[in-house]
Amino acid sequence: MHQNIPPADSADVLVVGAGPAGSSTAFHLAQSGLDVLLLEKSIFPREKVCGDGLTPRAVKQLVRMGIPLEEPDGWFPNKGLRIIGGGVRLELDWPELTSYPGFGLVRNRMGFDETLARTAEKAGARLLEGVTVTGPVLDAGGRITGVTARPAPGEDERSYSARLVVAADGNSSRLSLAMGLAKRDDRPLGVAVRTYYTSPRHRDDYLESWLELWDGDRLLPGYGWIFGMGDGTSNVGLGLLNTSAAFQRTDYRDLLKRWLAGMPAAWGYTEENRTEPMRGAALPMGFNRTPHYTRGLLLTGDAGGMVNPFNGEGIAYAMESGEIAGRVIAQALARPDRAGAELVLQGYPQALRDAYGGYYTLGRKFVGAIGHPWVMKFATRHGMPRPALMRFVLKLLANLTEPRGGDAADRVINALSKLTPAA
Ligand SMILES: Cc1cc2nc3c(=O)[nH]c(=O)nc-3n(C[C@H](O)[C@H](O)[C@H](O)COP(=O)(O)OP(=O)(O)OC[C@H]3O[C@@H](n4cnc5c(N)ncnc54)[C@H](O)[C@@H]3O)c2cc1C
Repeated sequence: MHQNIPPADSADVLVVGAGPAGSSTAFHLAQSGLDVLLLEKSIFPREKVCGDGLTPRAVKQLVRMGIPLEEPDGWFPNKGLRIIGGGVRLELDWPELTSYPGFGLVRNRMGFDETLARTAEKAGARLLEGVTVTGPVLDAGGRITGVTARPAPGEDERSYSARLVVAADGNSSRLSLAMGLAKRDDRPLGVAVRTYYTSPRHRDDYLESWLELWDGDRLLPGYGWIFGMGDGTSNVGLGLLNTSAAFQRTDYRDLLKRWLAGMPAAWGYTEENRTEPMRGAALPMGFNRTPHYTRGLLLTGDAGGMVNPFNGEGIAYAMESGEIAGRVIAQALARPDRAGAELVLQGYPQALRDAYGGYYTLGRKFVGAIGHPWVMKFATRHGMPRPALMRFVLKLLANLTEPRGGDAADRVINALSKLTPAA
């Protein structure tokens, strides 16, 4: 089929997609001394539709990669989360923990993704930009041994080969699909839209989250956000969950406009101040594509549906799964025989289940519950006026607890996550 393809370029590991999942995977693999080819279809810097908000979980991963995080480097710090709902406005600082830093960050994805990709490159990964992967190359047993790719528009397709391949190609993950891994429709999915406005609120040092999204007299299951970028603009957007009847019927851009029409004029969230188009994309949650390892292919980040169902955060989980995949692959490739390597690789889905399984099952129940408008109404009315309860809720929603010990809230959340079966 591919007789005219030039000789394949090869590596120990091919990583497809250089978003946070792919760059983190490539970084950790390169640090283990492996030869890594990181294939990215776009050319940096490039846009990615996102809220640009980073919790302490994501900051921890950036620190792991040795990335300088000062403001002159393009990062804007925040102290916590401001929640607005039920007639209450509550500022909750990120918890003080030994396991996570006490601050979050904001950075637009143009700079963020390029910084991560260049960091992987500096660690030794070979980054090829403008290379679109078109499909897997399989051996007679159906195991992936490489990929076919178009190096540039109009150029001939060629192939790359490796001992293992990582799908880090995001929510639609064509590579996973081509390997027979479709999305699971029993798992939650979010849809979110965002844009940017010049605003006097651009140096807000709290991430702001609005729990009540009204569509006429209907309360919708989702939330709106306003994140100061520190560069003269705010990233403003909203996300909804597929657990409600409203999910299919909603015009998201229109809802965003109507929500913003109710904001104080002084904040500047008006058409004249809009600096970017309103763009939307899906958030694949709670392991909505499994198994995370099959026949030589590992899934990381959105490709494996790893967005946190509680809060829609995906970057931290993309980077963490990249680190876990890097660790497992390095151990697998060190085994002298195929059977030994396979045994280690089968441990990757289990390592992910150990990290997030119970917590994501809880998240799916949460998402199911708030799909009922009365639950959402009850929770905002009765939860918001209770700051101690909301501090617990912040830890639960942002998945920020000490893994061992910690305070009573940490122990309750950890126990719930451990007791809830991973599925
Ligand atoms: C509106 C919105 C707001 C969000 N807000 C936040 C937020 O504030 N904080 C947060 O933590 N998360 C947020 N998320 C989720 C977050 O954006 C994702 O979870 C995260 O980007 C996942 O990273 P990833 O590396 O898995 O995938 P992606 O970031 O999608 O990266 C995939 C990469 O693969 C490349 N690629 C795709 N196909 C191919 C191919 N065939 N060949 C080569 N390369 C390919 C793409 O070009 C891309 O660079 C938001 C999502 C949306 C839609």
